[in-house]
Parts: sequence; structure tokens; C-alpha cells
Amino acid sequence: MSKKFPPGVATGNLVMNIFKYAKKNCIAIPAINITGFNMINAIIETAAEINVPVIIQISNLGAAFNIGKGLNNKNQYSSILGSIYTAKYIHQVSKAYRVTVILHTDHCNNEKILWIKKLLKENKKHFKLFNKTLFSSHMLDFSNEPIKNNIKMCKYYFSLMNEMNMTLEVEIGITGGEEEGINNMKINYDKFYTKPKEVAYVYNNLKKISSNFIIAATFGNVHGVYKSHFINLKPKILYKSQKYINKKFNIKQKKPVFFVFHGGSGSNLKKLKESIKYGVVKINLDTDMQYYFTCGVRNYMEYKKKFLKNQIGNPKGKNKPNKKYYSPRIWLRKGEKEFKINLKKIFKKFKY
Ligand SMILES: [Zn+2]
Repeated sequence: MSKKFPPGVATGNLVMNIFKYAKKNCIAIPAINITGFNMINAIIETAAEINVPVIIQISNLGAAFNIGKGLNNKNQYSSILGSIYTAKYIHQVSKAYRVTVILHTDHCNNEKILWIKKLLKENKKHFKLFNKTLFSSHMLDFSNEPIKNNIKMCKYYFSLMNEMNMTLEVEIGITGGEEEGINNMKINYDKFYTKPKEVAYVYNNLKKISSNFIIAATFGNVHGVYKSHFINLKPKILYKSQKYINKKFNIKQKKPVFFVFHGGSGSNLKKLKESIKYGVVKINLDTDMQYYFTCGVRNYMEYKKKFLKNQIGNPKGKNKPNKKYYSPRIWLRKGEKEFKINLKKIFKKFKY
């Protein structure tokens, strides 16, 4: 991604302009779920080094973790607070590193809707103060509902978001696997594959409000990494959907829909690239990135094992102090570094 966008958290039309650039150039932007501030820093540092925009997404429980596990999440209390302060932090860091960040919240179903309701209020407050929203975009996932209900509910919130020119991500079909306590392992096989006419229905309905939306249409996607996928990725569904919409609404524009790829971790690279060709502009990564961070820490812990057993005394001498080995600043940085190496590789891969 060679084009430079203004630094800081992207809001308003800039969000879709970044996606338009990505679609035109057959690039997908990695959207990374974060756990803790080390991951945020590692993402922003990577994006600064290779001069690219990036998507940081906060999940409901990731946000709660960031504000500390000691708080009670009754009525979404820590998820809301965690999202607000994590977002404020990202505003500052992205500006300092001169990186463009699309700041997004991940899956929100009807049970957690209070979370997004409160964040919409925060967006409004932020908008009044700084003329930009706190978040770039939100995802609403009512994919458990019949599609008409799903889109009816999405339209309600999308209208509110549109007052602040925000971008919406919706999900149709169901992502397999398990994430944040929601288990979709045993669902009707059919549900894992969206139909082109369903994508057309969503496209046509949301378009009436604004064109600032992206669609997570499932084509066999799975959250998490497993020994063997129990369903196959079929990116052709995205191609067929684009063509269906072109024909049905007589749209000349190539690839009218902006697609999101959920469950990018552990996915076949060929299929990933194929999906980018068909209009995927955002690929979600969580599981793989968690693993890379942990690998960095694990390798260090194994390598320096004898320096981490006591505060004093190591193979270099029984009176040698070990502070410079056990300081969390040392081993957390090892996690960040491994995370960064792999994120750079991912940016290179997400092109058709
Ligand atoms: Zn997802």
C-alpha cells in the first residue's frame, strides 16, 4: 500500500476511501484483534516502519481485559470502559507514530448491544469535541437472526452511525469455530455459505442509508485454527455475489461490494488471495497473532531459563543479579518483536 493517508485514527469518508484504494489495487488490510497495549504498540510500530494503514479491532472481551480483569463486566461495564480508554490510547499513539489506523470494534450480537449503544454515545461526545468520532467503524453481528431481522436491526444502528458518517460492518451467514465463548461448531452446514441473493439484499438495503458499509459474507470461514477444517473455503461465492449485484441492479462498477474475511488465521494462502481478487478489503486475524506474541515470550523464557529462576545467581556467577533478564520490559518486548516480524510477512501476503 504505497499511497499515504493522513495519520491518526481515520474517520468519516476517509475510512471507505482507504477501502476503495485497497479494492482498486487488490490489497486487503489486516485487521488485528488486540490483547493488551503491547500488541497495539507492536501493530503501530510495524505499520510505521513499512508505511501502511492498518486496522486495529477491539473485541468485547479484549476491551474488558484491557481495563483489567478485576472489574465486573455486568451490563458491559468493563467492555465499555475498556473500549473507550483503549481507543483514546490508540488515537494518541497512531498520531505519535504517524500511522493511519482504522479503529474498529469486532462482533457485537444482540446480547451485547448495550456495548455499542454506549460507544455510539462516546462517538457523539468525541465528535462534538474534536470533529471526529472515537471509532472509525463498528461491526454488528446479528447473523443468528433471519436475514430480514438482521438487516432491519442493522439499519436502525446504521442510521445513528450515519449521522456521524461512520462505517458499518455487518455479517451474513455464520462463521464457524469458536470465539469469545460463542461456539458455532455444530451449525447447519448451509449457514456457513452465504448466497449471492442474500448479499444483494443486504447491499440494496444498506445502500439506502449510506454507502459506508462493508459486508462479512461467509464462504466457509472459521474462527480459530484447527487440525483440519471441517468446512471448505469457497471464495467463488464472493465473485458470484458481485456479478449477481451487477446484473440485478444494473451497476456498471466492477466489484460493487466491499467484503470482509473473518477467521483469516490458519487459512490457505491461495484462497485468501483469491478472495482479495473478488473484493475482500479487510482480513481479520486474531488467533495467529496471539500465537506469534506468545512464541516470542516462550522462546525467550526457554532460552534464558537459568537466568529466570532466582533474583540472584545465574550461569555467569552465583552472585550475579538477574533483573535485566526477568524485567517484563525485556520479555514482553520479545513478544512484540516476534509479533512484528510475522505481521510484516502478512502485509506482504495480503495482495492478489
Ligand atoms: Zn469474526
